[in-house]
Amino acid sequence: MPHRFEVVEDDCTGCGLCSERAPENLEIPAGFSIAEVFKQPETSTEEEACLEASEYCPAGALLAHTKDLSPADPAQSGGQASFVPAGESTPAGIGSEDWRNDT
Ligand code: SF4
Repeated sequence: MPHRFEVVEDDCTGCGLCSERAPENLEIPAGFSIAEVFKQPETSTEEEACLEASEYCPAGALLAHTKDLSPADPAQSGGQASFVPAGESTPAGIGSEDWRNDT
């Protein structure tokens, strides 16, 4: 299943491991100290690199969403998306009402 990746800015330490593992998608822009997803993966190779980067992120700051959470996605407001924080094998937030409360 394609993932959409997101850096949680408050959690990112700027270590740069993710941009080393997935340089086609992640970077730490000049003048910034946190990573950015400058392009969502478009190939299976990029997808795998980003998933690996998410898995190895020491801060758990690179999230791999299993659903497109772009602002244009009407499902975003429904709260039905699942999240897989780095290092987690199962989506977090299932059964939890307060995880990633966007309101
Ligand atoms: S690996 Fe994680 S903590 Fe390090 S720069 Fe990337 S997102 Fe930030």
